[in-house]
Parts: sequence; structure tokens; C-alpha cells
Amino acid sequence: MVSESNLHNISWLSGKRPYQFFGPCSAESIDQLRTTAAGIKEHFSDVIFRAGIWKPRTRPNTFEGVGEEGLKWLVDIREEFGFKVTTEVASPAHVEACLKAGIDVLWIGARTTVNPFSVQAIADALEGVDVPVFVKNPLNPDVSLWSGAVERIAKAGISKLGAIHRGFHLADNKPYRNAPSWDLAVQFKTDHPEIPLICDVSHITGNPVLIPHVAQRSFDLDMDGLMVETHCNPEKALSDAQQQIIPDALREMWGNLIFKSAESKNEAFQTQLDLLRAKIDRIDDSLVELLAQRMNISEEIGLYKKQNKVTILQLQRWQEILERNLKSGNTLNLSEKFITSLYHSIHEESIDKQTNS
Ligand code: PEP
Ligand code: MN
Repeated sequence: MVSESNLHNISWLSGKRPYQFFGPCSAESIDQLRTTAAGIKEHFSDVIFRAGIWKPRTRPNTFEGVGEEGLKWLVDIREEFGFKVTTEVASPAHVEACLKAGIDVLWIGARTTVNPFSVQAIADALEGVDVPVFVKNPLNPDVSLWSGAVERIAKAGISKLGAIHRGFHLADNKPYRNAPSWDLAVQFKTDHPEIPLICDVSHITGNPVLIPHVAQRSFDLDMDGLMVETHCNPEKALSDAQQQIIPDALREMWGNLIFKSAESKNEAFQTQLDLLRAKIDRIDDSLVELLAQRMNISEEIGLYKKQNKVTILQLQRWQEILERNLKSGNTLNLSEKFITSLYHSIHEESIDKQTNS
């Protein structure tokens, strides 16, 4: 995880991986920011201090942020504690105010990423400057929307780009506030290996108890850092009170994380890993070969059904296949979720083959 040679040891961000985006959900007062920053400073030095100034809230007449006044407070925090500072921008006016105030890093929130018009307006406002911008994933589980937002910002000439995985709003997010859907984060990382990706454990979990596990999981997936909402007095917070933690709890959580490296210099480990990977490669070769054989038979069946005017989909047969394989999967310790999604995709391909046969 903290490998020196890593692509993501980006000079434009403070310090080294893993990057530490810590600070409250919202800037509420200069005293609240100062007390929080002082608590964080006791344990950490290379922090990108976060605080929302304009807050996207579900209902009006709730706390919607302190507005531009908070930008000056952030600059004061940078002067006093030596942290870089970052806030969310959702409109060209926000971008202009941040650039004028000299905010170090901007981020685009999940509610903005969903809207290409808003992202484009922000991109236009960023033309000609090269401030670092981090793009959160959209609320809905759509990786291309996330990529599209990053591409719009890149096209405006921003080269210092990062991404933030903050979970997705699904029909069932339990036990999280937003489902991590790790596969989507991995997909983003695969599509954009050059872009540092940090994990916003606060908005994924919505609950401090779940943070350590999610944070560890993100490091296990070789993510580049964490965003953790940290507040000097979470109970009194004006937004996201239930998910913020105090600086001492942040220190404890961080101290218990196991940092991993994407590579190891240990030769014995590398030899053993290569051996196991060779085994996996052989099994994958057989798997693909077997799947091809299975699809060839599907094609034969398709032809046979066509000649006899029998429908391609036969619900009962499909249900039998699924049930049979769920049962054997279960005895072999393969999860129901895995077998179900595997067989849905096999069945879909089989229907395609039969249709085209
Ligand atoms: C935030 O970081 O405070 C925030 C509003 O996040 P998101 O856009 O992920 O909901
Ligand atoms: Mn928040």
C-alpha cells in the first residue's frame, strides 16, 4: 500500500500515501474548525483538512453551510496548522470563490457528479487553472457517469485529478448508509489506474462502528487514502452528526489499520505467489475451455429447438439449473450471491447463443 514506487505517490498532494482527508462534515465556526484541527494535529501532520462550506441538504430550512465566510476560516486553518485545505464545489460561483480564496484542493460531491450539466459548468469555470480536483462517485451505481465527470474536468485542462469512493445509494444499503459496492470502485480503478482513489469511509458507513472494517477493506483493495469526517464534538455537529468521530478516535482507528503494499521485496513470498498464480491461470484456462464447450452445446440445443418450434426460454429448466448449482455450490462453500450471478450470466450468454444459432 505505501509503496515508494507507486504511481499514486503524487507530488501535488501533501505527503505520501495513504492520503489523509480529515476534518468535519461542515465548517460551523472558526472555533469548531480550530479545535478539530488542533485535535487532528496532535496525531497527524500531512493532512488535507476537509470542511463543507456549501452543504447539499435534502430539505430546505436545515443548515446549508456557512457560505463564503468559511473559506477565510479554512485559509486561517492552513496558516495555523500547516494543513492543505479542501471543500466541496457544486457550481461555477463556488469554484470562483474558492480560487479567489486560494483553497488548495476542490472536490465535487456525489449529488453534483450525477448531473453532467453541473459538472460541465464546473469544468468550464476551471479552464485555465490547475487546482487539484477530486471527484466523488455519483449517488447511483453508474461508473461511466463517474468516469464522465472525471473526463469533463480533465478536458478543462485539470491534470491534478483524484477520485473519491463514497458508496452508492441502492434500494438496500444495509448495514451501511451507502453500499460500498466494492466491485464498482475496482472497476473505476481498473479504468483509471493513473488516478488516485481515496475512500470516504464516513459517507459509506454513516456509523463510526463500521468505519474500521470499511477502512481496512479499502486498503486491502490498494486504495490511496481515506476521507474521514472528524469533529471536535460530533453530538453537536450541524450536519452528519451520527457519523463523525473525534480526533482521538480517528487516531485509534488509524493506528489499528494494517497498511499493505501492492508488491513485496520478499523473494520467498514472491515465489510462492507466482506458484499459486500459475495454478489459478491453469484453472482459468480450463474454466474458459469448459464454458466454451457448454456454449457449443447450447448452440446445438438452439438449432434443435428451432427445428422443433420450441421456445428458447424454458423457465422450468432454467429454475432447475439454478437450484441444482446453488445446492452444489452450497456444499462447496460458494455463496448464493456468487452462484446466482454466475449462472445468470451463463444463462444470458446461452440464450444469446441459442438465439443466433
Ligand atoms: C460531504 O462530503 O460532506 C458530502 C456531502 O458528501 P457526498 O457528496 O459524498 O454526499
Ligand atoms: Mn457529510
